[in-house]
Amino acid sequence: MSGAATLLRDVFGFDAFRPGQEEIIHTVATGCNTLAIMPTGGGKSLCFQIPALMREGVTVVISPLIALMRDQVRALRAAGVEAGALTSGNTEEETTEVWQALEAGRLRLLYIAPERLAAGSSLGMLRRIGVGLIAVDEAHCVSQWGHDFRPDYLRIGELRRALNVPLAAFTATADAETRDEIVEKLFDGQPPQTFLQGFDRPNIHMAFAAKDNPRAQIMAFAAARKGQSGIVYCGTRAKTETLARALLDAGHSACAYHGGMEAEARRIVEGRFSSEDGLIVVATVAFGMGVDKPDIRWVAHADLPKSIEGYYQEIGRAGRDGAPAETLTLFGPDDIRLRRTQIDEGLAPPERRMADHGRLNALLGLAEALECRRATLLRYFGEQATPCGNCDLCDTPPETFDGTEAVRKALSAILRTGESFGSGHLIDILTGTATDKVRQRGHEALPTFGVGRDMDKRGWQGVFRQMMGHDLIRPDRERHGALVMTETARPILRGEEGVTLRRDTIDHTPRPAVRAL
Ligand code: ADP
Ligand code: ZN
Repeated sequence: MSGAATLLRDVFGFDAFRPGQEEIIHTVATGCNTLAIMPTGGGKSLCFQIPALMREGVTVVISPLIALMRDQVRALRAAGVEAGALTSGNTEEETTEVWQALEAGRLRLLYIAPERLAAGSSLGMLRRIGVGLIAVDEAHCVSQWGHDFRPDYLRIGELRRALNVPLAAFTATADAETRDEIVEKLFDGQPPQTFLQGFDRPNIHMAFAAKDNPRAQIMAFAAARKGQSGIVYCGTRAKTETLARALLDAGHSACAYHGGMEAEARRIVEGRFSSEDGLIVVATVAFGMGVDKPDIRWVAHADLPKSIEGYYQEIGRAGRDGAPAETLTLFGPDDIRLRRTQIDEGLAPPERRMADHGRLNALLGLAEALECRRATLLRYFGEQATPCGNCDLCDTPPETFDGTEAVRKALSAILRTGESFGSGHLIDILTGTATDKVRQRGHEALPTFGVGRDMDKRGWQGVFRQMMGHDLIRPDRERHGALVMTETARPILRGEEGVTLRRDTIDHTPRPAVRAL
């Protein structure tokens, strides 16, 4: 695992990079001047915070927003990183504390407001403390023609020259004039490494499918791509072994890879994957960080990834050469339950657990999306997007139906049985199936018994999965995964809101192996 990935996980608690982050972090950390244009909310802070921890010396961060600086300093300290801010909002005590930490050489990041640069003493101070990197947030503030012009930003170029250290500039404003002005004013006209490309990877076809017979689904996907290099990601080590064997038996060239294997065995797999054509590696997420193979033609997830960031990073390993690549992600109610439990039982503090549930919800929203996957994904990363024409939902728009009634029936079955049962039993009640368990509990006497006869078992499974995906219900871990209603479902139960659901069509016909772009 690279240093950056370790810091991402251990300090910031994230399992995967957002699009663009890894490349930008690498460039900044190696000391190149960098200009990165990233959408708001795309995650630019990490692009200088992680390099700050990888480089010698203090990283000076210049930002025009005092509140934002204070938030970031607070968050960094909470994560155990020594950071401080010098702004007009400081109390005298805070300022003294920052000075002391600087003098003692403890501080890793120093946030300063641009007006501080005007004070003559600042340069001397910054010279003394050994600055290793300058990071400039909202770099478009240097543009005299823009709305956010900050005269003090014009001093940043001088500062860079005086300290003679690399500078990383960030902005969400992408127009060419502003970019040119940033290069002129901050970098003396010497073009820095520039990251402008959007985060979209248009050559990667995206598809999700509900788990029906997952082994058969993966085998069919691989069979349609025989002879092409691919990765199958699995949720457990054991599954990588069994699936690799099944692929071998079906005549593929395949091997397993997971963190429990000897380092030597893992290196052999990595070596084979990069040198051989058409090898399938069946792996846990341990595989991929160092993999730099341009012609991976497909990536499949046999189990739901951890987060939307993890999903995009993993499918993003396909098609680096720009040629068409295919992906398929399988998901089912057990995955959702497993991922929720992992978050709930993890050691993270409560706010982070909430954020993790939020990121899982974003991935489930993508899995259950009714319109273009790519547009849904890019919107999550802060980019504008229109339907892409290269995802399963653009290929075949899903059949939808007004699911309000079905959801209310399901919620009613959950509530009338005291939020104590899993979907199997609830579906028996809804479809009027008088099993032993139903009879023993007297559930055939419930008013909900049989109200869902208009749909079969599989239809109801789809409804329950989508209800989990929309976070209307969650498994209760104290009661072995019994389903409980969430607050999100209340307006639907009260008839104030409706829900559109998709009709599940489980399609076993593999997609054609070769597609034109
Ligand atoms: P901006 O680009 O607008 O400055 P931020 O750096 O504030 O964006 O990041 C926006 C949000 O995304 C923050 O809540 C941050 O914690 C989250 N975030 C950033 N990178 C990742 C990642 N790799 N995985 C998960 N969440 C991330
Ligand atoms: Zn699409």
